[in-house]
Amino acid sequence: MGCNIAIDGPAGAGKSTIARRVAGELSFIYVDTGAMYRAMALYMIRNGVTKENEDEIEKICEGARISIKYVNKEQTVLLNGENVNAYLRTEEVGKMASVSSAKPAVRAHLLALQRTLAAENDVVMDGRDIGTTILPDADVKIYLTASARTRALRRLQELKEKGQECSLEEVERDIIERDERDMNREVSPLCQAEDAVLVDSSEMSIQEVVDEILRIYREKVDRA
Ligand code: C5P
Repeated sequence: MGCNIAIDGPAGAGKSTIARRVAGELSFIYVDTGAMYRAMALYMIRNGVTKENEDEIEKICEGARISIKYVNKEQTVLLNGENVNAYLRTEEVGKMASVSSAKPAVRAHLLALQRTLAAENDVVMDGRDIGTTILPDADVKIYLTASARTRALRRLQELKEKGQECSLEEVERDIIERDERDMNREVSPLCQAEDAVLVDSSEMSIQEVVDEILRIYREKVDRA
């Protein structure tokens, strides 16, 4: 069994940047479960399934074979054998992922892959239900959040860097909508695990958050 650090939280809280850095510091593998849900969403989009015909999602998800490969410690997501990393981080795919990830069949489809990675490796895994459902016995659990405005500003900056134009209001509305869906769905809703440590990054730099998580981890390891 590997050493497992679970980081959950809402969209735009900085989970992936922070989880990647923490993993780098500890020489663990970083597992981005959002990318797996995004690959599933890409499969839906490519097969003509829209957010409006939700019933189709569960019917066709069995056809998506998702696996993970590590190249220089970077996660590569394979969708039916194709490296799809370059297609995952668009707003369209993110929105579809937020809808399709609420479906029990989609979640069940990805559960074994996530648990196997954590069992075989030392991992920092980020997502929405890692501490509550996927790895309930994780060594360290963090619930990373920030205000909706702060998260929207960060996402807007990311989009600008990619040359995509959007207004702050539009980005903030999308973030709030996605939070609502993630927190209120029936299966594995986003919530803080009872034994997770809450870290609010609204007023913290990336490095401060990384240091705080490393401190929590070391304290836990020293006590064990
Ligand atoms: O974190 P990221 O924005 O890449 O995730 C995309 C979507 O996938 C989220 O909005 C969420 O609905 C879903 N997701 C999930 N469970 C996870 C990771 C992501 O439901 N463990």
